Amino acid sequence: MATDRTGAPFSAERMAPMTRYRNTWKEMEEMSKPIISIDFDGVIHSYSSGWKGAHVIPDPPVEGAIDALLGYLDAGFEVAIFSSRSKSLLGRWAMKRWLGKEIAKHWEAGGRSPIYDAEVECWGDAAGIYRRFSWPWFKPAAIITIDDRALTFDGDWSEFPPQRFRNFKPWNKRPDYKTMLAPEDRY
Ligand SMILES: [Mg+2]
Repeated sequence: MATDRTGAPFSAERMAPMTRYRNTWKEMEEMSKPIISIDFDGVIHSYSSGWKGAHVIPDPPVEGAIDALLGYLDAGFEVAIFSSRSKSLLGRWAMKRWLGKEIAKHWEAGGRSPIYDAEVECWGDAAGIYRRFSWPWFKPAAIITIDDRALTFDGDWSEFPPQRFRNFKPWNKRPDYKTMLAPEDRY
């Protein structure tokens, strides 16, 4: 039986309040909030420099990304940031640090407050906002996924010939991405 440092056992009665509180909170979080899973590179991070390592994040955010992320939090979603960087501890740490800094910069530059129901008083308040996001290292049970290298499956495999994948380019790699062609004209 597990004991504490004095040799007293961790009885069920002793552990119950802590366990009950933790489970209830976890259940509330999981049951009440639908999850949006958002890719990082090319979606939040502009990724114009390409891959430099799981923990190297050199570029600024994609235009509008910070406002969109904060908007999803306000709308009551759990915002899970899930990337190929996520399997690396350093990668998750670097994404959190980068997002905190970018939200703080956004706020300093006159963007919206990162905490909708409280005043942000200092840079640290804004930088710590990354804690309101979730940072899974396995695929989350999301209701929707936002990714720059994904196609929506509509039940028809004939829409996915292999040449479509070979020719696939994410939005920022298309020479004409600023012209915003209709999806059917992009391939
Ligand atoms: Mg990506």
